[in-house]
Amino acid sequence: MKRRMAEPYKIKAVEPLTMLTYEERKEALKQAGFNTFLIDSADVYIDLLTDSGTSAMSDRQWGALMVGDEAYAGSKSWKKLEAAVREIYGYKYILPTHQGRGAENILSQLKIKPGDYVPGNMYFTTTRAHQELNGATFVDIIINEAHDSSIELPFKGNVDLQKLSNLIQNVGPERIPYVCVAITVNMAGGQPVSMQNLREVYELCHRYGIDVMFDATRCVENAYFIKEREAGYSNHKIKDILKEMLSYSDGCTMSGKKDCLVNIGGFLAMNDEDLYARSRELVVVYEGMPSYGGMSGRDMEAMAQGIYESIDDHYISHRIEQVRYLGQQLIDADVPIVRPVGGHAVYLDAKQFLPHLQQEEFPAQALAAALYLDSGVRAMERGIISAGRNKETGEHNKPRLELVRLTIPRRVYTNSHMDVVADSVISLFEKRNQISGLRMDYEPPTLRFFNARFSPLSENQELIAAEENVVSTQ
Ligand SMILES: *Cc1c(COP(=O)(O)O)cnc(C)c1O
Repeated sequence: MKRRMAEPYKIKAVEPLTMLTYEERKEALKQAGFNTFLIDSADVYIDLLTDSGTSAMSDRQWGALMVGDEAYAGSKSWKKLEAAVREIYGYKYILPTHQGRGAENILSQLKIKPGDYVPGNMYFTTTRAHQELNGATFVDIIINEAHDSSIELPFKGNVDLQKLSNLIQNVGPERIPYVCVAITVNMAGGQPVSMQNLREVYELCHRYGIDVMFDATRCVENAYFIKEREAGYSNHKIKDILKEMLSYSDGCTMSGKKDCLVNIGGFLAMNDEDLYARSRELVVVYEGMPSYGGMSGRDMEAMAQGIYESIDDHYISHRIEQVRYLGQQLIDADVPIVRPVGGHAVYLDAKQFLPHLQQEEFPAQALAAALYLDSGVRAMERGIISAGRNKETGEHNKPRLELVRLTIPRRVYTNSHMDVVADSVISLFEKRNQISGLRMDYEPPTLRFFNARFSPLSENQELIAAEENVVSTQ
C-alpha cells in the first residue's frame, strides 16, 4: 500500500477565499473580456495563474522580516543572503537583483557581443529577450522529444549534445559567449534535466572554453526529479544533489520568486572574479547598491531563510507530489494533459480537449475561461494567443502546443483545493462538446495575451451552452 503524504506544515495564518456564485462569475468573466489575466484577484477562488511570487512564506520568514537591516550600504541582511547562496548554491560571487530578469539583463550585457549565438534548452521569454536585445541569436538545443506533449521521458528537459556540438562546429566557440541551461525547463512544462546531461554539457563546453550559465529558477525542483529518477541518487539529500548540479556551471541567474519561496527578489552568481567585478558596476546602474540590488533588507532576510527551507527534503517532496496528485487525477479521468507531469504545473492539452474547435477559435483561451466560469479557478492560456503574430506576414503564429497552464503556488493550497480543481476540469471534460470558441474583439499590438478581449462565438453568446439547449452528440 502506498502511504499518502499530507502537507509538511500546519496553518498558522489564513487568507479567506471569495466564492462567487455562478451568476457572479459569469458577470466577472464578461467584464474581463473572457481573459483570465483581466479578472480581479478578489473574484478568484483558486488562483493557478502562476507560481511566480505567489509562494506562502513560513513563520520564520515572517519573523525574519522584522530583523531586516535597511542600511543603504553593507546591510547585515545582504550578508545573510550572500552566505545562504554561497553555502547552498556553492558559487563564489553573488549579486542581488530585484528579480530574475535583472540578473539576465546584467549577464547578457556583459557576456554577449552582437552576432553571438546563445544556445539554450528551450527559450524563456525574458531570458531570450535580454539575449536578443544584446545582439545574440537564440538557438534551441533541447532534445526533440521536449516539443511533443505525449512522449513520456524521465528527463525531457535534457540538452541534445549533438545539436550543441553541431552549433559549436558551425559558428565556432568564439561566437558562443555561454550556454544557458534551464533547470527545470519552464516552457517545456517544468521538465527536468539529468545530472549526467548537466555533466556532459559542462565537459563539452569546457573543452571549447565556453561557459555554462544556469537559469536556476527551479533548480530545487530539478534536484528532486534527479533523486527520484536517476540511478545512484535515491539516497542522496536534496541539498547534496543541488550542490553537485550547480557544480557543473560557471554561474547562474535566479528568480527568487520561484524556488526561493519569496514574493520578490533574485540574484546573479558566478565563480569568475573578473565577471563579478564588471557585474558589480552594472548592478549599481540598473538595480541598486551591490548590497541590496533592488530588494529591501527584509526581502533579503526572507529569501535567505527561504533558501534553507526550499532544500528541506519533506518540503520539496510534497511540492512535486502535490502537482502530480492533481495531474494523476486528470490522467485517471482520461483528460488530455502534457506528460509526464512536470515540477510546477499541470498543462491541459486544449486541442485534444476541445477537438471541435479550430485553433483560430482559441481553444485554450476558451477552456481557461470555461474553467473560471465553472469553479472560479484561474488558469492561463499558453497557445495561439500567447504566441502572437508573425512580424512579416501578420498571420497568427500557430504553436503546436495549445495549452492551459494550471500552475501550483508553493505551500499555498492543500490537496483539497487540488480536488476541487480536478473535479472542475473533469466536469468540463464531460461536457466539452458544449464549450464554444471565442472571437477576439480587441487585440493589443504587443504581448496581446495580457490585455486581449474576447466574446463567445456561439449564437446565444454563452461560453458553455445551457444543458437543455444542447443536442448531445454522444
Ligand atoms: C520567472 C522566470 C524567469 C524570470 O524571473 P523574474 O523573477 O520573473 O524576472 C526566468 N527564467 C525562468 C525559467 C522563469 O520561470
